[in-house]
Amino acid sequence: MEVCALEEQKLNEYGLTLDIIKTEQGKDDFCIKIRKALDGTELKAPVDLPFYSLEDDVLYFNYDHSKVNPFSSRVLTSRIWVPLSLRNKVMSYYHDDLLTGGHLGFIKTLEKIKCKFYWLTIIPDLKSFISSCMTCALITSK
Ligand SMILES: [Zn+2]
Repeated sequence: MEVCALEEQKLNEYGLTLDIIKTEQGKDDFCIKIRKALDGTELKAPVDLPFYSLEDDVLYFNYDHSKVNPFSSRVLTSRIWVPLSLRNKVMSYYHDDLLTGGHLGFIKTLEKIKCKFYWLTIIPDLKSFISSCMTCALITSK
């Protein structure tokens, strides 16, 4: 199965609709700062602003492949910026869920999340999320 193939309906059942994400981004301190920096109401940006964009009022993080691989051309992949309040839900969707998760390891779960979503502390957050997963602990102890 294609890693990036995602069922929108299932995301909706999980409460990860664009509307909910937009609402939660609106309450998130970091997102509020980025929005203000993007629309010019705040001059100081907390991060590298060119990586961020707003589309239909949803905040996206644009991953620049040429920054990681100098031989690659400048390809930008847009990913939805996940506000703090929804991070556990996103990790749970891609790790715990029987259909979309399946308790895969760190790298595979990270790949799946990064097809669509991103946030700055995704790596440490996901590592600690998986290391505290009771189901994974049971599987590995057998
Ligand atoms: Zn697990």
